[in-house]
Amino acid sequence: MTRTLTTDRAAHRRMRERRKAAGQCIACGKPHKGSVRCPACKAKKALYDNKYIARMRVIWKKLGICLECGKNNAVKGKTRCGMCLEADDDRYALKVARQKRLAEASAQSAA
Ligand SMILES: [Zn+2]
Ligand SMILES: [Zn+2]
Repeated sequence: MTRTLTTDRAAHRRMRERRKAAGQCIACGKPHKGSVRCPACKAKKALYDNKYIARMRVIWKKLGICLECGKNNAVKGKTRCGMCLEADDDRYALKVARQKRLAEASAQSAA
């Protein structure tokens, strides 16, 4: 019996839904609570995602699309879009503030 890709996909989705409802890992079916994937499958997915992103980034770079979000056009001369650059600035400012606090705290405890 031959099955089309579409029904295969739908069956796959149904199976995942069933596993999710039963508290099983949606990838391997092992009983697992808390998240939809067990730690082993989560690690596998992260690896796959990393590979996928790495492959996509080559394409995004060629097209001049932001390498961070893959949605917006990158700022001229940069590899990321304005939104991602701004978000990064925020993160950087937070990091600097935290480091400053830590440095001050250690200076106080040393004194
Ligand atoms: Zn699993
Ligand atoms: Zn972006």
